Amino acid sequence: VDFNYTSEQKMITDSTQRMVERDMLPILDAGDTGGVLSKPDILKIFAAAAELGLTSARIPESGGGAGLSMLDYGLITQNIPPTIGLMLQPHEATATRIFYGGSDEQRETYLEPLIAGNIIAATGSSEPNMGSNPREVRTRIREDGDELILDGTKMWISNATTCDVANITGKIERADGTTSVARVLVDMHTADVKTSPIHMMGLCQSPHGEMVFSDCRLPKSCLSPDKGDTAKLLTLTWLSNRPLVGLMAVNQASRAFDIALEHAKSRKQFGKYIGEFQLIQQDLSEADALITSARLMCLNALSVIDSGGRANGVSAMAKRYAVDACDKAIALAMRICGAMGLSKELGLERMARDVRMLTIPDGTPGILTLIHGRELTGLSAIR
Ligand SMILES: Cc1cc2nc3c(=O)[nH]c(=O)nc-3n(C[C@H](O)[C@H](O)[C@H](O)COP(=O)(O)OP(=O)(O)OC[C@H]3O[C@@H](n4cnc5c(N)ncnc54)[C@H](O)[C@@H]3O)c2cc1C
Repeated sequence: VDFNYTSEQKMITDSTQRMVERDMLPILDAGDTGGVLSKPDILKIFAAAAELGLTSARIPESGGGAGLSMLDYGLITQNIPPTIGLMLQPHEATATRIFYGGSDEQRETYLEPLIAGNIIAATGSSEPNMGSNPREVRTRIREDGDELILDGTKMWISNATTCDVANITGKIERADGTTSVARVLVDMHTADVKTSPIHMMGLCQSPHGEMVFSDCRLPKSCLSPDKGDTAKLLTLTWLSNRPLVGLMAVNQASRAFDIALEHAKSRKQFGKYIGEFQLIQQDLSEADALITSARLMCLNALSVIDSGGRANGVSAMAKRYAVDACDKAIALAMRICGAMGLSKELGLERMARDVRMLTIPDGTPGILTLIHGRELTGLSAIR
């Protein structure tokens, strides 16, 4: 096992950090930290992200994408603020789904602008009454001559209010009376869909929202054939999404740790730097151990995916552990900073809220524990 970055991985990491500093943080810092960024600002960030390959990481170069290894995708993601990461990941995952499961027409229409970061994509699966169990999807897709009729509500969708195209999951009712799960690609400018924002506790600069389709008529060409290599598609998106979300948490906790370390070395009490006290060193040591183990677990899961190994258990374990560990590390960082840790000035309270937001998407801790348990025992406790 070689834990050293290759020269190419060092280059990827350095150029990501430079781009975040130059093209992303100024936009985040100039905006209202409690409000969603404007679409023009988001598109500026996406255009910069496209240069890093973040809009098309899982699309092969032969298809016009960046064709990154999952490990390299992770190394880039751990340097991206989660506010941006959680806008980019569903965008990129949707583009990947269109590449593998879309029709030729869908690929021709959407892939180029999605890869360039000129338009924004979303994936709508969750509903008011359907979260962890996708089999309970209630959105209905009916065939009516040359058209489809879409009825249903999607909730908690990242990019809901800014997206130009959305990949919507529903149950299709066929003319012969059979039903199956299907996906339609909805052009948000032409379809009759109502979107509204949902205000969440964290990641407030990225949009989350609801989409309501009521008797929404779409051309039949919106239906995704979903033929392609479905197993590859699932592995690429679901399994790698989890450690990637874990690395977004690592990004946040690492920043919190740096702030706490600086504070410990500059704040004096009882005539000493507080970093000289053993209890503060214990908190720093614990936070560092939590962040380092979270990072390694996520990178390991991505490396297993790259090598073609079975990653269901390791990717579930990595995300569950990483988000929880980073949540704890941020709490320790806040404690080291005393009252300053709770103030808005240091930004730690925002990081504490942001990291919590990563607990739920791409698998709740409960569901991820059960997926891991199923891998270990061969027995399912989910259903
Ligand atoms: C920041 C954010 C971004 C999101 N982005 C998107 C998006 O872009 N697209 C999208 O479609 N969705 C998105 N979601 C929604 C997300 O996928 C769902 O919230 C998630 O699947 C969980 O569903 P739920 O919230 O309905 O919880 P529920 O499924 O109702 O679960 C509630 C609790 O019950 C537990 N539970 C459920 N079933 C079991 C079981 N069998 N055994 C034990 N415990 C169980 C869960 O672990 C959880 O603790 C996002 C959510 C968040 C917070």
